[in-house]
This record gives sequence, structure tokens and C-alpha cells, in this order.
Amino acid sequence: TGTLYIVATPIGNLEDITFRAVRILKEADLIAAEDTRHSRKLLSHFGISKPLTSYFDHNKHLKGKYILDQLGEGRTVALITDAGTPCISDPGYQLVRDAVAAGFTVVPVPGPSAAITALSASGLPTDTFVFEGFLPNRQGKRRDKLALLRDERRVLIFYESPNRLHAALADMRDILGDREIVVARELTKVYEEFIRGDISAVIDQLNERKIKGEVVVLVAPRSGGREEGTSRPLAELLGDYLDRG
Ligand code: SAM
Repeated sequence: TGTLYIVATPIGNLEDITFRAVRILKEADLIAAEDTRHSRKLLSHFGISKPLTSYFDHNKHLKGKYILDQLGEGRTVALITDAGTPCISDPGYQLVRDAVAAGFTVVPVPGPSAAITALSASGLPTDTFVFEGFLPNRQGKRRDKLALLRDERRVLIFYESPNRLHAALADMRDILGDREIVVARELTKVYEEFIRGDISAVIDQLNERKIKGEVVVLVAPRSGGREEGTSRPLAELLGDYLDRG
């Protein structure tokens, strides 16, 4: 029966594709890509010319069925997305789930993911962390989400778009407190940079410029670390209770 490969591709620097990924893509019968125009450039860079089909959020039901049919006919399908590892804040989850349920073999072909890439050089604790993906776009929902994470003792990792970065950082400062953060920008690319400091200091730095490019935001646990008691001051608990009305 068919095999579905979940193939990670670079998050910027084309040298970050693996030998295995290139071989699997060359050998696949069909490549399913989030954006075929975008992926055609990557594939042609590596001399890969294979039938391409699109697979993205809004056609995932129709295309998922088509891809499962191909697997049913014994074909090999490779799924890629615009950058990094498919299924990580990217399409693919439903396809993997359906392929597993239908009894097909699903094989991961690992490579970069922005979250792990950012964490590895952030200088923040790496032993335990929480990947939160994108925060909600709307401020109210974003602040609610951050409130749920306030007492989290692990490093928080977020994906954010550059035009929402300022708003998200301001909400983090208000709700999480002025903690140490790292903004990892343009990872693996020419203008890669890590902006480190307390949230307010990072906001000040960023206020002086317009942030472009892709970013990962990493937030250190509340100061005091793990030794700090887990119980919250009574006044704070009471405050939450009263807020809820
Ligand atoms: N599947 C991808 C992965 O494995 O990292 C993530 C895809 S998600 C739609 C895109 C987000 O990932 C961007 O908004 C940004 O937060 C982050 N990202 C992707 N490439 C990046 C890079 N080179 N530098 C910093 N952040 C990046």
C-alpha cells in the first residue's frame, strides 16, 4: 500500500534541507504542497520535477480524499509546506490522521522547525517548554489566552506575524508581567537576529524600527523559577474571582 511522507523543508536557508528529504521528494509519485507556486521554486532548485498538487486548509477535505485515493493505489505521496515541518502551525494534521486511520504508513522526514530552531539558540531554559503556535488575532481573545498561561512554569513559544508583534508584546507585558523574552527574527536567513531582554526593553528597542520578516517569540517563566511556591497570593486569586463577576 501507499506511503505518506511528511517532509520538512527549509525555513529560509536552502542549505537546511536534508539529503533524505531531497531523495524522498525525487522518488515520490506525487508531491502535495501548501502553495504549489512557492514550492516549485524550492523543488526546481534541487532539480526535482514531480507532479505537484495543492493541499491547504481550504481544500483539505477534497484534496485529502484525492491523496488518500492515490495512497490506496499504492502511490507514494510526499507532503511539504511553505516552510519547516508540515503540521506544525501548517496544514497536514487532518491528512495524517486520515491516513493513519485508513492504515497507510506515515513516515516523518525531519528537518527544521522555527520553534525548535529559535529555542536552541535563545539562551532560555530548554528542558521543558510549551509551543503555543499563533496567539488569537483579536486582542480580547489574545489577552484571555495569555491570562491562561500566566502561571505556566515552562518557557512559552509563540509564532507571530511582524505586523502584530507590537500589539502582542504589549499584551504580554500587561498580562504576563515584565519578564525576560527573546524575539527570534529571520532565522537561518541573512538578517537573522535575536532580540533579548525584559519585555519592556524589547518593546523600546523595537519601537525605534519597523519589524519585518518572520518572528518567533519565546517567553521565560515568571521570575523566581521553579523554587517559587505554586500558590498564588490570596489577593490575586480574589482579584481573578472578582473579575469573573
Ligand atoms: N511549519 C513551520 C515550522 O515548522 O516552523 C511554521 C509555519 S507557520 C505558518 C509560519 C510562522 O513560523 C511564522 O509566522 C513565524 O512565526 C515562524 N517562522 C517560520 N520561519 C521562520 C524564520 N525563518 N524565522 C523566524 N520565524 C519563522
